[in-house]
Amino acid sequence: MGTIVQKYGGTSVDGREKLLSVAKNVAALRSAGNDVVVVVSAPGLMTDGLIRDAHALAESPSQRELDMLMTAGERVSMSLLSIALNAMGCPAVSFTGSQVGIITDTRHTDARILEVRPFRVIQELAQGNVVVVGGFQGVSTAKDVTTLGRGGSDTTAVVLAAALGAERCEILTDVAGVYTADPNLVPASRLLEVVSYEDMHELARLGASVLKEDAVTFAERHGIKLIVKASGSDTQGTIVLSEPLGPTAPITGLSLHRDAFLARWRVGGDGGVGIPRLDGNVRPLFTVSTGGEVLVALDETGSRAVRHPTHEPAELQEVALLCAVGPGAGTAETVAAAAGAITEAGGTPLVVCAGCRSIVLALERNGSTDMLRSLHALFFEAPGGQVSGGRGA
Ligand code: ASP
Ligand code: MG
Repeated sequence: MGTIVQKYGGTSVDGREKLLSVAKNVAALRSAGNDVVVVVSAPGLMTDGLIRDAHALAESPSQRELDMLMTAGERVSMSLLSIALNAMGCPAVSFTGSQVGIITDTRHTDARILEVRPFRVIQELAQGNVVVVGGFQGVSTAKDVTTLGRGGSDTTAVVLAAALGAERCEILTDVAGVYTADPNLVPASRLLEVVSYEDMHELARLGASVLKEDAVTFAERHGIKLIVKASGSDTQGTIVLSEPLGPTAPITGLSLHRDAFLARWRVGGDGGVGIPRLDGNVRPLFTVSTGGEVLVALDETGSRAVRHPTHEPAELQEVALLCAVGPGAGTAETVAAAAGAITEAGGTPLVVCAGCRSIVLALERNGSTDMLRSLHALFFEAPGGQVSGGRGA
């Protein structure tokens, strides 16, 4: 039988009962004859707690030491799970990212993976062991421990699946899969049976936390069959794959990025500055230019880079980004309908940016969840709307 990579998120490994239930699932998968690699996140909100501890000691802690600290959370989960599996009679061994050969660049707290050399995983699987891997971490070309950015355990799972030629990669989480919008914010949201890599990538990039953007990029590049589903349930979840054949709904789903920033530079003219040069590591969520201004939407990391004194000073505004993604998201009709729905709900789109497969509205953070619900009602709850057609997306 083939190799299956499973990733369990923080809520699934938070406490004895949950760990035991994960261990039972894993042992059953192993007993069915599969080679099993399990990637785990830190329990619950442990990573947040560790970051808080560091900031209680220093205003800007060393990024290297932060990585050292944060990887401790995943070590707790991986060793406990391995202990539970062995106690159940299912032989297992746990490894750090470094031990399974995840080699990254030297960008602490947000490192990129350069190479994966999973020799020890292959050896242990061949000996019949379940391999438990601490997610979210690697080792840099300078031999220091690195982390892959918040939510990076998804990336660990997908790169290992690719390096091992796994049959599939399952992301087991606290929701039943990918929804038309975050089900914790939009009670009327619906589970998607399938999502294309392209739409999933855009949703993740623009704030959907169910999957990490880099993980989707790797999955697409290596053709990994990615399944997102609830841990401890038999439901089918969501399959992320290449664009499915057949009819598709114009809008696949919505995301909300509640911690975004708009950086504003005046360019040219009297008192204006030159074209802002963004640090090469900053990934803008979108860029638009209008009336002598350049506006760049950034996440927290990007905004920190822009605040750095070496940067061309920008006016920074806290915003939320509300996004609709899908094959018909960038049409003039969709843009007008979305902006209209937001205005009608009492919101003010500060900037609207439409791409060929997405539309992003920058809004005040306050009240942005209500705006998400209004947009969901427009696209997914209208009688006779796209809800009834297409692939159910
Ligand atoms: N524990 C890390 C985080 O909280 C990585 C992860 O959960 O994927 O971001
Ligand atoms: Mg996550």
